[in-house]
Amino acid sequence: MSPARAYVALGSNLGDRAAMLALGLEGLAALPETVLVGVSTVEETAPLGGLDQPWYLNQMTALDTALTPALLLTACLAIEQRAGRTRDERWAPRTLDLDIVDYGGLELVLPGLTLPHPGLADRDFWRRGIDELRNRGR
Ligand code: AMP
Repeated sequence: MSPARAYVALGSNLGDRAAMLALGLEGLAALPETVLVGVSTVEETAPLGGLDQPWYLNQMTALDTALTPALLLTACLAIEQRAGRTRDERWAPRTLDLDIVDYGGLELVLPGLTLPHPGLADRDFWRRGIDELRNRGR
């Protein structure tokens, strides 16, 4: 399978947020059959969902990957786990959140995986991150 260009978003609003993003980048860069080809600037954003919680640091990445969407998702969840992520209520604070925002333009709805990520409509900062990377040819 020829590699697909995927965009994976990182977000953190707990602990040392910058260190969490760095851990996420390290995890993505180490994935098999995958090259991390671009990393956006970091943007700080207010939490969605109206809960009183710390602001997020967000960063977008571009990957060329031969992993299937399902394998890429599994890998992202493993990176979150290594960063000490616990799953609580929706919108709850998180040490590290990885979301596959786009995978080669594929449209897919599987249990546990929707592409493009349905949250894209609510997250201008994801769009800005992708635009920044695309403007750099990534
Ligand atoms: P979150 O609370 O944002 O970490 O959402 C976690 C769950 O969303 C994951 O366990 C995935 O099964 C599911 N999910 C559905 N579509 C996607 C996607 N495109 N990228 C990442 N997670 C997804």
